[in-house]
Amino acid sequence: MSNYTDGAVTKLRSIVAIIDQEIVQVPPTPALRAAWAELVEVLALGPSPQTRECPSCHGIGMRAASRCGHCWAALEPLPLLSDGTPLQGDA
Ligand SMILES: [Zn+2]
Repeated sequence: MSNYTDGAVTKLRSIVAIIDQEIVQVPPTPALRAAWAELVEVLALGPSPQTRECPSCHGIGMRAASRCGHCWAALEPLPLLSDGTPLQGDA
């Protein structure tokens, strides 16, 4: 894993996601594409943590949490993701 702070990792992930989208809009040169792929690999941010929204206070917390970290309401266990996101250990 990386040595970045949690805040930095979150910000880097969002920046990477934005650039990923923009690169699709305007196809880059092969050199830029290769450099970008290499940069993402070196950053090694890993997948975003799975989060969920609390039905009571709409606060965002970890998907695996059994209680909301904001209002402490009990949370229903969620089924596996159905949005196509690869699950950890699904290799
Ligand atoms: Zn809550």
